[in-house]
This record gives sequence, C-alpha cells and structure tokens, in this order.
Amino acid sequence: MSKKGIVKDLARQRIRWLFNLAAEETRKGRYERARRYTELIMKIAEKGNIKIPRLIKRSICLNCGVVLIPGITLSIRLKGEGRGSHITAKCMLCGWIKRYYIKVKRI
Ligand SMILES: [Zn+2]
Repeated sequence: MSKKGIVKDLARQRIRWLFNLAAEETRKGRYERARRYTELIMKIAEKGNIKIPRLIKRSICLNCGVVLIPGITLSIRLKGEGRGSHITAKCMLCGWIKRYYIKVKRI
C-alpha cells in the first residue's frame, strides 16, 4: 500500500471510531459532544479527501450534526400508499426531514 493509501486508511478508521463515540454520546443525550465528534468526522473527510461511508453519512443529521438513532433523535414515518409512498425520516432535534422513496415493483 502506498503512503497515501495508509494515511487514508487511518483516516477511515478514525471516522468509524469517531462515529461510534458520537452515537454513544447521542444515546446518552449528550448532543453537544456528539456534534463535536461528527464535526471532526466531516473535517477529517474533507481534509483527507475521503468519502464518508454511506451508512455513516446517512446516520448523521446534516443540518445539526447529531447521530440519527430511531426513537432517540430520529422519527420515521411511512407516508402514502403504493407508487407514491415514501419514508420520512425526521431529526427530532432540529426538525430536518429526509425523504426516501420506496420503489414499488409490479408483480
Ligand atoms: Zn438535526
């Protein structure tokens, strides 16, 4: 592995580690600390030109920076029926809403 590759790999490991810490703080209701960790994640990713793993990026409120955990900071609702149905994921702290459309397959 090249030196650059090693640096990126370390950064990715740090991101995962910081995300775990942020999730833990969120679970404990310490949102300010959680935000500090997610801010660091963004900074590391930006500096190192690293893509944040999709699973992690999806789990961070891009508006207020907390980790989105169902029942704690995230409320999930299913809206509509059939073709137009979608899931709304709402950050319970800042009210930021994300929509996921569900693809309905015809059988
Ligand atoms: Zn939020």
